Amino acid sequence: MRTVLLGAPGSGKGTQGVVLSKNYGIPQISTGDLLRAAVSAGSELGKQAKSAMDAGALVSDDIVIGLIRERLSEADAQAGYILDGFPRNIPQAEALDEMLTELGQPLQGVVLLDVAFEELMQRLTGRRTCQDCGAIYNIHLSPSKVEDHCDNCNGELFQRADDNEDTISHRLKVYEDQTSPLINYYQNQHKLHTIAGIGSVDDIARAASLIFDKF
Ligand code: AMP
Repeated sequence: MRTVLLGAPGSGKGTQGVVLSKNYGIPQISTGDLLRAAVSAGSELGKQAKSAMDAGALVSDDIVIGLIRERLSEADAQAGYILDGFPRNIPQAEALDEMLTELGQPLQGVVLLDVAFEELMQRLTGRRTCQDCGAIYNIHLSPSKVEDHCDNCNGELFQRADDNEDTISHRLKVYEDQTSPLINYYQNQHKLHTIAGIGSVDDIARAASLIFDKF
């Protein structure tokens, strides 16, 4: 199954990606995660990406397309994948289509997680991530049982550097300007499926699964 989770920052792509990846036994591939790992490792690519990420801007298309090309060639992606945070603009979507057409393995569908704009800010400012297992919490909406510690592995929770109000506003604007045109792009390809990104994690995963099952 080859799919994309589309949605604004804070719409729940990462959370749903983890659940659906486990349920379907295919990897969730997040360019944000790949870039954060490169920044943490201090690699040349990480150094190039860091300033754009800190500002809430998009990292250059060349960098992210290169990352995706490499990641999709790995063994675990051959049975399918869930892309999260990629593509982020029309040129990236076109590059992905081209790459997959060459392989004769086009995308089967795109699921848009639809969340009202006003809700996104609260989700993003409250987001906390486990530094050990990557589980995602929200101090307002879905807090961990013990403050600052993960329910699954007791790892310490941290706030992403780009989850501060100034950067969030910019990321939401970038989504409006550059990423939301992908809704039309995939609609025109008859690949877009929209679900409400509101409710419990399980309910949303169930709605997404009904669509995934048809791919
Ligand atoms: P995310 O974890 O998806 O919210 O991504 C965090 C940050 O990584 C974004 O604000 C961008 O700076 C960068 N990023 C992630 N995915 C992409 C992409 N497909 N294209 C450009 N920049 C990206």
